[in-house]
Amino acid sequence: MAPHTIAFPFDVETAPRKGHMDSHIDRDLVIDLTRDLIRFRSVNPPGNEQEVAEFLGQRMEQLGLESRLEPLEPGRANVIGRLPGKGAGHLVFTGHLDVVPPGGQEWKHEPFDAELIDGRIYGRGSCDMKGGVAAIVAAMAALQRRGFRPRADVLIAATAGEEAGMIGAQAMSDRGSLKGSGYLVVAEPSDLDVFIAEKGVLWVRIRALGRTAHGSMPWLGVNAVSFMSRLISRLEEHSFDYMESELLGKPTLSVNTISGGNKINVVPDVCDIEVDLRTLPSQDNDEVIEIIRELAEGLAAEFHPDLRVEVWSDQNKPPLETQRSEKLVEATVEAVRSVRGEPAVGGVTYGTDAAAICPTYGIPMVICGPGAPGMAHQPDENVEVEQLVQAADIYARLARILVG
Ligand SMILES: [Zn+2]
Repeated sequence: MAPHTIAFPFDVETAPRKGHMDSHIDRDLVIDLTRDLIRFRSVNPPGNEQEVAEFLGQRMEQLGLESRLEPLEPGRANVIGRLPGKGAGHLVFTGHLDVVPPGGQEWKHEPFDAELIDGRIYGRGSCDMKGGVAAIVAAMAALQRRGFRPRADVLIAATAGEEAGMIGAQAMSDRGSLKGSGYLVVAEPSDLDVFIAEKGVLWVRIRALGRTAHGSMPWLGVNAVSFMSRLISRLEEHSFDYMESELLGKPTLSVNTISGGNKINVVPDVCDIEVDLRTLPSQDNDEVIEIIRELAEGLAAEFHPDLRVEVWSDQNKPPLETQRSEKLVEATVEAVRSVRGEPAVGGVTYGTDAAAICPTYGIPMVICGPGAPGMAHQPDENVEVEQLVQAADIYARLARILVG
């Protein structure tokens, strides 16, 4: 990558040094911290984030930042770092500390060795998203070192449990840990493009309860599997009301697990399915659940008077969309532009911790982080060091624009 030639607009005495995007970002810190974080096996399930959270808290304190551990269940914790300001309207950067399992495929690079080869760091979590967490910390450390005193706090919300249920971010909402916040920046991998919308996540579970009978006399039973096969078609054919979103496209519905029956000669009395729905800002998740319940109950009544159906949801995160004209979006685009050129602005089909945080605090979000989005959860996951350093530079500039 060519050394950049754009002067740092907020700090003119800082001359870029060779090999550095900007000399105020400590490149070695970004690299070492990313590698140290990868070596903690915070694989979810079960998570085990407490050790890595404690380590990160200590590192932040060594770098002159405040830190507070937020214990969840045994062995699991969030950690919140802080560069203190005077007023409200905090700028929150967030990243998760858990990673998905290495998976069944062969890796060329050991998943937890954090090898650094040819300008890339390899390992589970390098891209999704311990590299992003390290970039945030390096940015805040650089600001602290240079005596930056923000007008509101700059917070580092490092969460547990993002990969399953967003439990850490939810706790930060339930406990008011981010009270006074004004902006949220999610450092999930975006190749440093700027995503301002994400789909809602709605997991619906449906159970059909019929009546068992000998397989040779099916007329005596109520076949739950047969009912469910019809319900699946009904769900897939149903056109839910929505307005198509420019950034997110259409909503989706996918029936992803099914279980029912236990013997070839027994009419099954129970069948369960799990349905993954991704919703748009024009939809209301709770209304969608009610529509599914009505469809299921209506079909059950048609099928057999003794067929009962249960519908519930255990994951319900709203869709989010930040207006392009929001100050947060403008500032993020400006920060990226000054470091690496004009970013694309778009949306993502998945949910992030923002869905558990933004509605509670009523704040806008952007997703902007180092690493290729398609690299997450892959074997030989890796991240480019140059992007990590650029990310840190972008975050430091963003803090200066928004709370400087
Ligand atoms: Zn992630």
